[in-house]
Amino acid sequence: MMSITPSHIIEHLFCPRYTYFEYVLTIPQYEEKFYKAIKGREVHSEKLERNKDYLRKKIGVKEKLQDQYLTNDVLRGKVDEVLLLNDDTMAPLDYKFAEYKDKIYNTYQQQLFCYAVLIEEKFKRPVHKGFIVYTRSKNKLVEVQIKSEDKLLISETIEQIERIINNNYYPKATKFKRRCLNCTYRNICIK
Ligand code: SF4
Repeated sequence: MMSITPSHIIEHLFCPRYTYFEYVLTIPQYEEKFYKAIKGREVHSEKLERNKDYLRKKIGVKEKLQDQYLTNDVLRGKVDEVLLLNDDTMAPLDYKFAEYKDKIYNTYQQQLFCYAVLIEEKFKRPVHKGFIVYTRSKNKLVEVQIKSEDKLLISETIEQIERIINNNYYPKATKFKRRCLNCTYRNICIK
């Protein structure tokens, strides 16, 4: 079984057929990856000073581990910071080369949910929230609640991805037809 990344999960949640076309039929997405949001984190030059004391005070950080590459049997991901908070829970923190526009993208949230699953497994401590720092909005810090059902969604999505890949199963199209308009697979997708 392939190792699944947050990007796979986000694509699958967007439309399960992405998983089928990309990983069963191995047809690459020719266009630039739809989820530029995820790619944003690769702009390292824009990552501003990370050792901000304000962060520690504001969110009660006891300890900080940087650039953590986390993996389990099926999922892998690299989180910018894993924080140990004063209440002994942990939290992922991710820097985004982006402006904060009064809402948090689903893609960002799902990425944090994936990290939460990986952190709980590796460090054996609960994760109830995560943080995003928007580097293009003066390092604005935004808190994201992470509930049990959010982590469950990640586990269920991994199971669905495995089922499609292992059984060559052609999944149902997304219910949201608008998503098909810009889809790289729209010409080969039978709806
Ligand atoms: S065309 Fe629509 S249903 Fe088909 S893969 Fe793209 S988003 Fe999914």
